[in-house]
Amino acid sequence: RAKESGRNTYQFYTEGMQDREVLRLELDKDLSKALADNEFVLHYQPQLDLARGRMESVEALIRWQHPQRGLLPPGEFIPLAEESGRIGEIGRWVVLAACRQLADWAGTPLGQLRVAVNLSGRELDDEHLVDHIQRALALSGVAPDRLEIELTEEIFIQNIERNLRQLSRLHQLGVHLSIDDFGVGYSSLAYLRDFPVDLLKIDRSFVRNMTERQDDAVITRAVISLAHSLGIRVVAEGVETEAQLALLRRQACDLIQGYLVSRPVPAGELPAVLARGFALDDLSVDR
Ligand code: C2E
Ligand code: MG
Ligand code: MG
Ligand code: MG
Repeated sequence: RAKESGRNTYQFYTEGMQDREVLRLELDKDLSKALADNEFVLHYQPQLDLARGRMESVEALIRWQHPQRGLLPPGEFIPLAEESGRIGEIGRWVVLAACRQLADWAGTPLGQLRVAVNLSGRELDDEHLVDHIQRALALSGVAPDRLEIELTEEIFIQNIERNLRQLSRLHQLGVHLSIDDFGVGYSSLAYLRDFPVDLLKIDRSFVRNMTERQDDAVITRAVISLAHSLGIRVVAEGVETEAQLALLRRQACDLIQGYLVSRPVPAGELPAVLARGFALDDLSVDR
């Protein structure tokens, strides 16, 4: 059947096909079943603190263990979940799963970590979001400062007052806020002044060529300097090489995340990564 062959392709859910509406309904049905059947899983990618040479936090990245199609990356289902509105339920699941994971880690070396979860701007439409996050923290007995929320610059473009109100409430709870993919949105820098931002994540596209292209290196240096002047720490995304690490350290970047340190891994593999991460001490500290 056409339906089944189509199901094995990325295009099935995402490209502009004639029966897009039908396919969207199909995905929506599958996503709702995925939530009910517990088919989502979080993988975790370390963020390494360069000054201390230790893992400070991990970013939770969702995957869908699809019964027929295998492990699907978020790019294959998050965009349409955002369009359909299903993203709200997924976000609630992610927050709760991250809090439960933190509770599981309590009392182990992983208990010191902060977990960063990604939320779409669209999820801030939900006036109960902050209550939900507060409840998830309370239910799992996790301190709010163990949790970090990553949002992209889109939150500075639309519904700004509403977003500021929601994020200020979260920040007052003690939850950390970070701006993801910084530098590729269309937002105004003024919002860095007005919003309670703890961390900026420099988009991977600047890091990728920073050791070959002077202009990219100038941009990362300027972003780091701007952030520090505002009391905001900086994470470089997508760090893959020692040369990038060395340059970022010279630029006084606070944290790095990328394949150089580790790919995103299932929770069960993190203890091994954490142990290996300490071997990065010699790379990451000049002293
Ligand atoms: P992001 O938040 O910017 O996450 C970083 C992405 O870069 C991840 O892709 C990660 O696997 C990848 N990455 C990390 N280090 C490197 C590197 O050194 N090189 C390269 N080439 N890539 C690297 P992933 O897991 O496929 O996630 C893609 C995007 O999906 C995320 O981008 C985020 O926007 C979104 N996403 C992931 N999980 C969630 C979630 O739970 N909720 C929502 N709303 N969005 C999510
Ligand atoms: Mg992110
Ligand atoms: Mg990012
Ligand atoms: Mg990115």
